[in-house]
Amino acid sequence: MKPKIWLSSPHMTGEEMKYINEAFSTNWVAPLGPNVDKFEKNLANYLSVKGGAALSSGTAAIHLALIVLGVKQGDEVICSSFTFAASANPIVYLGATPVFVDSEPETWNMDPVLLEEAIKDRTKSGKKPKAIIVVHLYGMPAKIIEIKAIASKYSVPLIEDAAEAIGSEYNNKKCGSFGDISILSFNGNKIITTSGGGALLSDNMEYVDHARFLSTQAADKAIHYQHSQIGYNYRMSNVLAGIGLGQLEVIGERVASRRKVFSRYFDTLSEIEGIKFNVEPDNNYKSNRWLTTIVIDSDLTDGTTREDIRLGLEKENIESRPLWKPLHIQPVFLSCPSYINDVSYNLFVNGLCLPSGSNLSDNDLNRVIECIFAMLKK
Ligand SMILES: *Cc1c(COP(=O)(O)O)cnc(C)c1O
Repeated sequence: MKPKIWLSSPHMTGEEMKYINEAFSTNWVAPLGPNVDKFEKNLANYLSVKGGAALSSGTAAIHLALIVLGVKQGDEVICSSFTFAASANPIVYLGATPVFVDSEPETWNMDPVLLEEAIKDRTKSGKKPKAIIVVHLYGMPAKIIEIKAIASKYSVPLIEDAAEAIGSEYNNKKCGSFGDISILSFNGNKIITTSGGGALLSDNMEYVDHARFLSTQAADKAIHYQHSQIGYNYRMSNVLAGIGLGQLEVIGERVASRRKVFSRYFDTLSEIEGIKFNVEPDNNYKSNRWLTTIVIDSDLTDGTTREDIRLGLEKENIESRPLWKPLHIQPVFLSCPSYINDVSYNLFVNGLCLPSGSNLSDNDLNRVIECIFAMLKK
């Protein structure tokens, strides 16, 4: 059996150990400490926002963002449908209802036209949405300027789920710096990782301070344990923040490597009939290319489908995955209101994520490309 090629595996530099050793030698092995403070500062600097709270996961960050924005039981929150379930789950933690909005075909992210329709329609039925969660899927920036304009036209706060998009930019401004609040994930499969972790960032320090307070059990300023609010245990540990500090030092290189992976696939495979890539719509868009994705039109491939290609890769010990199953067709969310145009459904049926790690060797990449060629180039 040839060695396994993973979709996206952690890529350490070794520099992380410097910060981890420091945490050990100073005994800062706790959910607070100098690495956490420094990681928060460096993240905020990187995104050019005022501040951030380092947390235990991206999901926790979305949960706290919703609480900070006042989302409560019975409220509605608009969310991209084409995303990972973690984008919407925290809405349900709060007893609120997700309202799903489908994608536009250019970036595959939230369609601004459908978004406006959804806001108007929900408001008419007496439920003005309490927040919007917009996702930059696979690192491709959403039509964030239009979406931000609609959010402010109707005064609905915007949460930017940039879990897959650290290092992506729109018009030279970083994804994660557009929303009223933004969130990042440092899960093991993301472009930089702390093995598990996330962050909430904002220009509004009241939001950041409130989230940080809630993430450490909402302890009042008192020497005894006193609580006036329900809190959470969501803070990032000082050891893991050390990994994050090392990873953040190389974010530029990681983005460059992932973009190179995309280019290599694009340059070799786009000549094959029936394969399409999600190209950046114009020069304002810069995707971090977290994952390279292809869409198969089986009418043009002599009937070879996305699933045939996935299974063919699997036989060669190469991991690939269908695109995210849209949330509006997930069994658990079927009863939620949704505003749909079938763009995400068709991408789900025909789309495939290819191995895209920044640590893929040329040899690995050639194996993937040759395998796809063998299936499609007749
Ligand atoms: C990974 C991911 C999350 C959740 O992040 P975790 O750190 O795994 O909790 C949220 N949204 C999107 C779009 C993601 O890809």
